[in-house]
Amino acid sequence: YTSTKPPPPPSPLRSAKFFQANMRILVTGGAGFIGSHLVDKLMENEKNEVIVADNYFTGSKDNLRKWIGHPRFELIRHDVTEPLLVEVDQIYHLACPASPIFYKYNPVKTTKTNVIGTLNMLGLAKRVGARILLTSTSEVYGDPLVHPQDESYWGNVNPIGVRSCYDEGKRVAETLMFDYHRQHGIEIRIARIFNTYGPRMNIDDGRVVSNFIAQAIRGEPLTVQAPGTQTRSFCYVSDMVDGLIRLMEGENTGPINVGNPGEFTMLELAKTVKELINPDVEIIMVENTPDDPRQRKPDITKAKEVLGWEPKIKLRDGLPLMEDDFRARLQVPRKN
Ligand code: NAD
Ligand code: UDP
Ligand code: UDP
Repeated sequence: YTSTKPPPPPSPLRSAKFFQANMRILVTGGAGFIGSHLVDKLMENEKNEVIVADNYFTGSKDNLRKWIGHPRFELIRHDVTEPLLVEVDQIYHLACPASPIFYKYNPVKTTKTNVIGTLNMLGLAKRVGARILLTSTSEVYGDPLVHPQDESYWGNVNPIGVRSCYDEGKRVAETLMFDYHRQHGIEIRIARIFNTYGPRMNIDDGRVVSNFIAQAIRGEPLTVQAPGTQTRSFCYVSDMVDGLIRLMEGENTGPINVGNPGEFTMLELAKTVKELINPDVEIIMVENTPDDPRQRKPDITKAKEVLGWEPKIKLRDGLPLMEDDFRARLQVPRKN
């Protein structure tokens, strides 16, 4: 028979236990490259419920397709420059375009995303008592005069250049994080992320690793921007996600550098990609963009000590994993 009586409400004890056991986590920018890998990792834990808020500027639903419809997952089209009302325990705040061609496309919007977006997420953290992690960047060190960069270095940043919307935007975001911490007692975590690469990067996003791999697969020349002696340090995305989760779960506010200290010139990177992916392609020198940092390498002493973290995947092992993903998306199989 069918009862017309409504079911009894869950006992307060049971629902309290349910809420204690489950961790509700907001990931802003979760449809992007690093964010979607972070979501994959968080969803592995059955006690986690994950909410992604993303405006799809550089991210896509496709990166999250395996979670859409999952009972512990929710996806919201939302721009972080607008207020957001959700009830969560933790916030991973990643929303912000990371590739220079995208963050320079609408620089005023990039500053708004960093400043107003971070302010809104801090207001949210304050209202609900959540812990919040900001993905800051090695770009806060600008064109560094100290090498390698440790967290005590204040940086050498041009405040009025074409990269400033991103660099200075992230610097203000860090300031807001620490002022909400000091003024309102918010639990904060700041990661200074160094160049990260791996599957799901936008094929045409203009960053150096994705450019070189796509060029090598398509048989096009690898475009090294002059002088080619500038250096970067590249971290594989699974190592990055591991570092971010350790930082969130640990006791230290940061800022903490999260990156791979292996340092390469862009010419060395091009030669490695050529050797591993397509020995037939040419390497050509093209014009660079303004304010390009000449060197960048993280000092990860603090991450090792405080988080017990260091990257495991070497560039030579990570590049072929990314190649597999790019070949599948470009539909160019490996020749044997
Ligand atoms: P990404 O561009 O792939 O991801 C950023 C995500 O944020 C995208 O899904 C995009 O749609 C979303 N987004 C952008 N503006 C938004 C807005 N106003 N409202 C809501 N969503 C918005 O970049 P990524 O490489 O995954 O970077 C993630 C974070 O890590 C960024 O904060 C970036 O600054 C930081 N970071 C990345 C690197 C790197 O090498 N990838 C280096 C340093 C710092
Ligand atoms: N905010 C939000 N979600 C919340 C609470 C606040 O997006 O759940 C936004 C709010 O709209 C404000 C910002 O966060 O623009 C800062 O909030 P806070 O309460 O710290 O400052 P105030 O509202 O007093 O400016
Ligand atoms: N770069 C390059 N060829 C490219 C794209 C970038 O040589 O096709 C260089 C660029 O000049 C810079 C480095 O690679 O020195 C890293 O650039 P990217 O845009 O990937 O990241 P970021 O400058 O933010 O570190």
